[in-house]
Amino acid sequence: MQKGSCHCGRIAFEVDGDVSQALECNCSHCSRKGYLLWFVPRANLRITSSTDSLSTYKFNKHVISHHFCAHCGCAPFGFGASPTGEETAAVNVRCLETVDLNALTRIPYDGRSV
Ligand SMILES: [Zn+2]
Repeated sequence: MQKGSCHCGRIAFEVDGDVSQALECNCSHCSRKGYLLWFVPRANLRITSSTDSLSTYKFNKHVISHHFCAHCGCAPFGFGASPTGEETAAVNVRCLETVDLNALTRIPYDGRSV
């Protein structure tokens, strides 16, 4: 189990699973935010804080809700559906407490060309 939060701590969460790799997408949105994404079933992520500061950004086809903290601006996770229709959470591993970013396998994803 991993714990994560935004910078100011108003958004806190727990995720079940082991992080060994993260997707690094080069699209206009992910590259600007510096996302390193780890995909898990939505049920594996529990928000343990209030959601009062949870803001949402949607773009393109509006299929993914990119959540961020309205106070500090960090974007710890987003919710959407997998290609097969399962509810999925995309966790920004940069917002997890104990992940060694240098030990992760980074999977490049060419979102810019999709
Ligand atoms: Zn915050």
